[in-house]
Amino acid sequence: MPPSTMRAVVYRGPNTLRLETVPVPRIGPGELLVRVAACGVCPTDIKKIQYGLLPPPRIFGHETAGTVVRAGARVRGFRAGERVALHHHVPCLQCHACRHRAFAQCAQYQRTGITAGFAPAGGGYAEYVRVMPFVLPGVVRIPARNSFIEGALLEPVNTVLKAIRRLALLRGDSVLVAGQGPIGLIFTRLLALAGMRVIATDLLPARLKLAREFGAAAVHCPAGPAPSPARRSAPRAPRPAAPNLATLIPRFTRGRGLDAAVITVPADDVVGEAQALVRGGGQVLLFAHTRRGTATPLDLATVCVDEKDLIGSYSADFQLQAETARMVFSRQLDVRRLVTHQFPLAQTARAVELATHPTPDSLKVVVTPGAPEG
Ligand SMILES: [Zn+2]
Ligand SMILES: [Zn+2]
Repeated sequence: MPPSTMRAVVYRGPNTLRLETVPVPRIGPGELLVRVAACGVCPTDIKKIQYGLLPPPRIFGHETAGTVVRAGARVRGFRAGERVALHHHVPCLQCHACRHRAFAQCAQYQRTGITAGFAPAGGGYAEYVRVMPFVLPGVVRIPARNSFIEGALLEPVNTVLKAIRRLALLRGDSVLVAGQGPIGLIFTRLLALAGMRVIATDLLPARLKLAREFGAAAVHCPAGPAPSPARRSAPRAPRPAAPNLATLIPRFTRGRGLDAAVITVPADDVVGEAQALVRGGGQVLLFAHTRRGTATPLDLATVCVDEKDLIGSYSADFQLQAETARMVFSRQLDVRRLVTHQFPLAQTARAVELATHPTPDSLKVVVTPGAPEG
């Protein structure tokens, strides 16, 4: 029997997260109650918390895995005791947007189907969540050999797989992945597994090292190599110019240019740079430009005359959930290597802080409201 109250981290206004005691959600006959074991800290939640994009109070956290503790009388296919990964958005599959596979634009999809109380916002930063009927098709069982954390990471992996499906790539194509944070590294690995030649960029050497291990054919630090101590003490010796992408890419692609570039950092200047490095008919995919209102000067003839597509991808595609689960649970994409920090529920604010201001050795940050395993 679940208790009647639980601990939850409640968003009370911009940059304000408080550990509070709230009622354990009651479930309806078509719903599940899940005890949360792990919840990933995701940049989209961070933005909502920092900028106060949604009215408080809310309980955030949408990359959630845990154990079913109660299944409503009308639920088929799940029972108490099962370890599951949750999916908070599921499209209706019938509306105009869905018939065009624009699932993220479907009205039902935009409703959040998982809550720990207040206006539904994911609820993963709490001990228990209520899973509504319309998101049950996205719930996935976690195999015995896999961890809750692997389950929690299905959601970000799904978003990357969906984005890659928007690219018109052939095996052996050359793809730039700008930014090797957790999302960029997932891109690098999935593209490498699909037979692409990936050139990965990031400012942090530790991330480039991991990108290599995840299958990048080449890595590049836009800031260039750090100056050696000898050079610093002899200021007159000029620092050699760092090779830039404009000279590396022609070599990497035998003069053809990139087939595609994926931008996983919200930097506007990188978009124009990528657009110049992509071949005619190639694609630039934006994955991190979620803030509205920026006006980026872009030579639009590169789109019209050079036929370079500028495309975006947002959120997940639950029809790719089975394939996502295969990639993660088989460990072809070993997401455990992305998780550098785990915090108990009471330290969720610290977890968000670290994810907001990553250190050279931090990647994915996870909150573990339940015991990490078991
Ligand atoms: Zn997420
Ligand atoms: Zn729909």
